[in-house]
Amino acid sequence: MPLVSAAQVLPQARRRGYAVGAFSIHTPEMVDAVFAAGERLQSPLILQVGRRAVQQSGVEEACAWVRRRAARSPVPAVLHLDHALDLGAILRGLRAGCTSVMYDGSDLPLEENVRRTSEIVATCHAVDVPVEAEVGRMSGVEDDLTVEEAEGRLATAELCVRFVQETGCDVLAPAVGSVHGLGQGVPHLRLDLLTSIAAVVDLPLVLHGGSGLDPQQLAGAIRAGVAKVNVDTELRRTFVQALGQALEVFAPRDDPRPALLAAESAVAEQVALRIGHFGSAGHARD
Ligand SMILES: [Zn+2]
Repeated sequence: MPLVSAAQVLPQARRRGYAVGAFSIHTPEMVDAVFAAGERLQSPLILQVGRRAVQQSGVEEACAWVRRRAARSPVPAVLHLDHALDLGAILRGLRAGCTSVMYDGSDLPLEENVRRTSEIVATCHAVDVPVEAEVGRMSGVEDDLTVEEAEGRLATAELCVRFVQETGCDVLAPAVGSVHGLGQGVPHLRLDLLTSIAAVVDLPLVLHGGSGLDPQQLAGAIRAGVAKVNVDTELRRTFVQALGQALEVFAPRDDPRPALLAAESAVAEQVALRIGHFGSAGHARD
């Protein structure tokens, strides 16, 4: 079917108490893997193109992989542009067919984040594309922060209410302690904070850094109001590890395709596992 908008997928996910996985794709095999898992489990899907994929393949090309595969899929799929840093990147994503975008102004001072997010919301709404925005600032595994520094970056319920009112964003990614990438140890997800934000913001909430979170943490976050969970690092890791193993068999035979297919099915298994954790299986027709 044609791509669907995030507005057709996320509000009912929050209402009905599940989350939709937003799986980052970096190669055509990863696109096929995400669709294979979603179709097997009858789950709605979000395929996201982030800055790494944009740099390596170009936004047009990466989005074309998703559009082409979605056209012959029976499950609803959203094409999401992840972590765009400026209006130019957003416009290129819209032109490439994205049906959802994230603007990340979290590095900017708050007033500037509000101003630029509002401008991007107005632009995207003119073509009926919903906007995810970030409040507070998420850490990455490469960030070496003290506990106080990390806490100082988190969103608050009061800030989220004001940000949503002033920007008109459709989907909110509040910094609540999850961490980008897979580091050592378990990230300190602040479920109390997430619950207090969800009590006053009725938009679908997003958790970035889903790779580092275990099923119990995810279940708590989804109960609290999270409707989209981003998964990137663990899929990249799964792909390259499975490819490395497969090459031990297929490299001596100079045979690339079976090695790529082995990596693809490993990613499909990982996506299926995450769909299980997110509770979206069987919700393709919601
Ligand atoms: Zn992110």
